[in-house]
Amino acid sequence: MQRTPVLFVGHGSPMNAIENNPYTKTWQALGQALPRPKAILSVSAHWYTMSTLVSNVRENRTIYDMYGFPDALYRLSYPAKGAPETAARTAALLGGTAALSGDWGLDHGTWSVLTHLFPKADVPVFQLSVNRRLTMREHYALGQALRPLREEGVMIFASGNVVHNLSLVDWKNPNSFSWADAFDAYIRDAVLAKEHEKVIDYLALGEPSRLSVPTMDHFAPLLYALGATQDDDTPSVFNDARTLGSLSMTGYRFD
Ligand code: ZN
Repeated sequence: MQRTPVLFVGHGSPMNAIENNPYTKTWQALGQALPRPKAILSVSAHWYTMSTLVSNVRENRTIYDMYGFPDALYRLSYPAKGAPETAARTAALLGGTAALSGDWGLDHGTWSVLTHLFPKADVPVFQLSVNRRLTMREHYALGQALRPLREEGVMIFASGNVVHNLSLVDWKNPNSFSWADAFDAYIRDAVLAKEHEKVIDYLALGEPSRLSVPTMDHFAPLLYALGATQDDDTPSVFNDARTLGSLSMTGYRFD
């Protein structure tokens, strides 16, 4: 079986689930070009937990973990099946550090993007949580442990945002703050040059790092994606843009 690609997607506002904009058009085109995986492992910023959990439900519920948005967003459902056997395999690969969970489904970090990538929801999806107790290096190591899944037809899909500062979001600003541009560019250059240490050591940029990553939930998924890559994977960038002042939409593909 051919090795599956790895994706990191900057999901941005939940409204992207129902909007048709340049970002969602890129996701749609990407989905059409991707080989069809056997299953998708989603590492979502929005399952932010006190331990490392792998969802092993057979039927996924669509979780509406966002507040104050238009009704249309709460009517969207993404009924992809779960993948309990592959979830058990994943937990085994992560060793004693991960536990199975029957309490989750698909949160908006997952469905707001997959509804564009795989609109038929006909590929099984299961999630891996972001453990808030881990360091960036530990997240990266878990990503490395996921590598064998790619040879087994499972696509690693990490969903977050490189720059994500909700307290500074300016809903009327289509552009971005200079520190957001600086941090996104620093990470982009490191990812494309395969300089993963620079991403693990993201605080090296100082103030732009702290403003872009006030909490690690949206940044950590990128470490899983990088960890899951092999030396001969080629990274490429899509949706290289910042919006609403303090969000980046930048995504990466590795294959
Ligand atoms: Zn988010």
